[in-house]
Amino acid sequence: MALIRQEDVIVSVADALQHISYYHPIDYVEALGRAHALEESPAARDAIAQILTNSRLCAEGHRPICQDTGIVCVFARVGMGVSWDGDMTLQQMVDEGVRRAYRHPDNPLRASVVADPAFTRVNTRDNTPAVLHVDLVPGDRLELALAAKGGGSENKSKFVMLNPSDSITDWVVRTVPTMGAGWCPPGMLGIGIGGTAEQAMRLAKESLMAPIDMAELKARGPRNPIEALRIEIHEAVNALGIGAQGLGGLSTVLDVKILDWPTHAASKPVAMIPNCAATRHAHVHLDGSGPAWLPAPDLRRWPKVDWKPSPDARRVDLDRLTKAEVAGWQPGERLLLSGKMLTGRDAAHKRLVDMIERGEPLPVSFENRTLYYVGPVDPVRDEVVGPAGPTTATRMDKFTGTMLARTGLIAMVGKAERGPAGIEAIARHGAAYLMAVGGAAYLVARAIRSARVVAFEDLGMEAIYEFEVADMPVTVAVDARGASVHATGPAEWRERIAAKRAAEPA
Ligand code: SF4
Repeated sequence: MALIRQEDVIVSVADALQHISYYHPIDYVEALGRAHALEESPAARDAIAQILTNSRLCAEGHRPICQDTGIVCVFARVGMGVSWDGDMTLQQMVDEGVRRAYRHPDNPLRASVVADPAFTRVNTRDNTPAVLHVDLVPGDRLELALAAKGGGSENKSKFVMLNPSDSITDWVVRTVPTMGAGWCPPGMLGIGIGGTAEQAMRLAKESLMAPIDMAELKARGPRNPIEALRIEIHEAVNALGIGAQGLGGLSTVLDVKILDWPTHAASKPVAMIPNCAATRHAHVHLDGSGPAWLPAPDLRRWPKVDWKPSPDARRVDLDRLTKAEVAGWQPGERLLLSGKMLTGRDAAHKRLVDMIERGEPLPVSFENRTLYYVGPVDPVRDEVVGPAGPTTATRMDKFTGTMLARTGLIAMVGKAERGPAGIEAIARHGAAYLMAVGGAAYLVARAIRSARVVAFEDLGMEAIYEFEVADMPVTVAVDARGASVHATGPAEWRERIAAKRAAEPA
């Protein structure tokens, strides 16, 4: 029988969440280092280098890997022999740990959780509540697997009820391209097979808590059909050529995890949840002897990758930008942006477009300006802004036509691809869409020299800021004629990979 103090649970949860906000799991870092060494696509290799450099900077500086510090998911295995010293429920203990972690004065994390999701979507301000799954198991200890799941990857979760005879690999290969790059590859795929609809989703999420071991698995060979399926899906998805950030390349997934459960004879439920470049999870156990503390990793294990801006990149002065200059940018070209840009994401776009439709004046001029889709982390110490990486651009597509037609905006910066409506509007107005690397938020923030809120302060991290940047690295992802590197890059690398595999000895 173990007596576990509620304060020990709270402290352990808070410490683990702080830990994973700035330390990638070492298995992810080492797998990404191998992917960087093997990557042949220059654009994808550059993106991986940014993610690795960002990872090391965050580990050294104890600042978040990504501006989206995630919604907290916890898998608790509670021993039947555990009793509790305290009167809080386990959900309350976990939530108090989340509150302390996200409001930590030395490393405040962005509060991203909103209540009343169907209607008012009010930010809960402390990132609570967590999503908690509880299993009662034999024994007398409490095991917690904690993750901080980014919205960009969570939004790409998929579920299907296959026919019992259908191929799971075929469904995955058909489905992954529909997810675009908003889940910030290279990452992992978690797959849950069987049970019922909700059980398959839970299995998919829980599978992502396991360490990356695909290289070891391939080296020793599969020992059961599930391991064989993991390898088959890993090979098939990487053959799609999607690559880091969807730019086209060899590494789309570093691992594929699968958990299964018996199901109804008529059913084959399959869930798939991607984990992004901000893969964050930790595992602690409590046995009544006090809080669990996670040791700091050995930073010498981080790959020796130090990203630097390309000497070939075109330097752009945002304060003198014109449509004529934008029209000269080429798809895939690397730019270094300097000068002033505005920010805005979902809530600001909705409010701006509503104001335009009501004929109201806007609070700030967008004439010949560049707009960065971002919701930054609050700054600490001498920072002008906390980690400030791009958010998924497709969510802004439905506003883009109005913004380009009615405000004078000429360029946008975000992450991943644009959808058809966004591309059509960009081409019609001769604007451009630039891509920054998702999962490199701390590195990107180092380019920001000043930040001030210029409108919609009540929206918190979704307010409109004006950033002054110096040499902020971006890639031209949609040019003024509507050519998209997220269409051409993966298509090119899919063909190259097919040709390479065909040339390999059988
Ligand atoms: S790496 Fe991408 S998907 Fe993951 S939390 Fe950051 S922005 Fe979101």
